[in-house]
Amino acid sequence: MLIALLTDVHANREALIACLSDAERAGAQRHLFLGDIVGYGADPGFAVDTVRDLVESGTALAVQGNHDAAVGLPDALLRMNGTARAAIVWTRGRLDAGQRAFLAALPLTHRDGTRLYTHANAWSPGGGAYIEDPSDARRSLLATDAQATFVGHLHVPGLFGMGEDGEVDEFDPPLGARLRLADGRRWLARLGAVGQPRDGDPRAAYALLDEAAGVLTFRRVPYDVERAARRVREAGLPESLAARLLRGS
Ligand code: ZN
Repeated sequence: MLIALLTDVHANREALIACLSDAERAGAQRHLFLGDIVGYGADPGFAVDTVRDLVESGTALAVQGNHDAAVGLPDALLRMNGTARAAIVWTRGRLDAGQRAFLAALPLTHRDGTRLYTHANAWSPGGGAYIEDPSDARRSLLATDAQATFVGHLHVPGLFGMGEDGEVDEFDPPLGARLRLADGRRWLARLGAVGQPRDGDPRAAYALLDEAAGVLTFRRVPYDVERAARRVREAGLPESLAARLLRGS
């Protein structure tokens, strides 16, 4: 079974469609969404409906990201910077009760056999701490007995492996390469963002997981970034969010 792992869609319609099409062409049969379906982007309703339709059809699972949770929180409890906060307040007004309820009901983690899927990290799945370096990855790997953990949240793809001695190495995963998450190590894969990449490459990022073989492939998909940025501006969202899409950082 080939699973498309998609995270940080961030209400980017064009990027989501491009990644789903790419995954379909690659033969993906299921989808796993690792949170932040909304926030920042101009099409929250479309993003929620698309993910919800896939979940309800039985071919997808989704976990909750901090932006998804923030939609259901009172403003006083939003722990976000001004731009993210402005986008959440805007997003809230664009979603109907059913869409908000879908986001609120998402679980923080999904465990499937030896694999753990969560938005931020394994030690505090609902918290905001990022996995940026090997020590963060180690902390997360020590918080679970899963052989492989998949996260999003940082919007930068990365891969960490922990040996039996407890040492964690960081790998620079080559795009398109088939990376075997071999037994004998425990793995943490940080997936890049579908809808708001921050590694200097504006193309949408996601990954494919060959479940049976334990093989992960990081992918990048070109999409109409100009259109997504224009829609952010037309929505009246902060200009910096449009610029960020164009830069990919
Ligand atoms: Zn995010």
